[in-house]
Amino acid sequence: MDKHIVYVDHAATTYVKPEVFEAMKPYFTEYFGNPSSIYSLGRESKKAIENARGVIAECLGAQPSEIYFTGSGTEADNWAIKGVAYANRKKGKHLITSAIEHHAVLHAFDYLKKEGFEVTYLPVDERGFVNPKDLAEAIRPDTTLVSIMMANNEIGTIQPIKELAAIAKEKGVIFHTDAVQAMGNLDVKVNDLNVDLLSMSAHKFYGPKGVGALYVRKGVRIDSFVHGGAQERNKRAGTENVPGIVGMAAALKLAYENLEEYNKHLRKLSNKLIDSVMERIPYVRLNGDRENRLPGNVNFSFQFIEGESLLLMLDMKGIQASSGSACTSGSLDPSHVLLAIGLPHEIAHGSLRITFGEDNTEEQVDYIVDNLVEIVERLRQMSPLYEDFVKKGQKA
Ligand code: PLP
Repeated sequence: MDKHIVYVDHAATTYVKPEVFEAMKPYFTEYFGNPSSIYSLGRESKKAIENARGVIAECLGAQPSEIYFTGSGTEADNWAIKGVAYANRKKGKHLITSAIEHHAVLHAFDYLKKEGFEVTYLPVDERGFVNPKDLAEAIRPDTTLVSIMMANNEIGTIQPIKELAAIAKEKGVIFHTDAVQAMGNLDVKVNDLNVDLLSMSAHKFYGPKGVGALYVRKGVRIDSFVHGGAQERNKRAGTENVPGIVGMAAALKLAYENLEEYNKHLRKLSNKLIDSVMERIPYVRLNGDRENRLPGNVNFSFQFIEGESLLLMLDMKGIQASSGSACTSGSLDPSHVLLAIGLPHEIAHGSLRITFGEDNTEEQVDYIVDNLVEIVERLRQMSPLYEDFVKKGQKA
């Protein structure tokens, strides 16, 4: 990466760590056999997949037979939701999720609604938390699945998953969590959380793109999603992405080994950014919870600012950040997450998400803050809303 670029969009994606890339390389060139082939080259690939499955299971505190590889976090989410909904539809067709899920989850539920399922969307409070009481009240005798994300990709809020899963389990309802943003940042253990299904995606924790995994607790009824060959114990067809799977396991192992140090580093940068911006820029709010958030996530709303202009001007200074979810950028609708936490449209529009990673430094935070102070001031000077506000004696 150009050394003048300050990349602070790690929630969108991360680079592949050199050690991870090295681990993957032989499976592109030397050990390229099809894992379904019975000769030795095929068996090498198969061995690599099973080794990776074991590594990932160990990180999660799961059994290797409970880990299934997929082509992305999106596929893992879709499979969990549609697969459980269909497999259990004789029991009932009521499903529960939250208003602030990633589109990989929300759009899977949209699809199921068209198929005759009923979906309840739990609201969140002003910091983005689901209230466990709301979940308890929403569960009905015909509810079969609850899907609530572990950590939000826009505002970083970490849900009380253990408590939420306990409520669902007590009532015999299957619990899925989208842990795509949590993995690599938090010490996720499936038995401690007591979740039945959990989705992850390698490119969020310094692994390759296009490979994910779904944890499925033994005994959970789930239909297949991709039909074809007998791969993944007949549950997910398609020749496996061997280098990708090897890379995901290598990246996750490194992440779990360095979790504490990585968290400390990210927290230091986030706290410095939050404190400096709140001190130097007026009319700004921090979205999400100050404490219970992903360590590298900072999400601000600047009043009287248009988020897209802010991003473009930051980009001209080499700062690569986001206005929210990478998947929705390009759309002018304000983020559904920011609206769900109660922000009015005009404030939701002026949002900026900065997500730190291992290579970011305190000097880069200073550089970001200095530029933000200048750009926000410049954009406000061009804003008719700000002019009105100033004329009215700043009472708006
Ligand atoms: N879920 C969450 C919370 C995400 O942040 C993302 C990606 O941004 C996804 C799911 C989708 O993962 P993938 O990019 O692997 O399809």
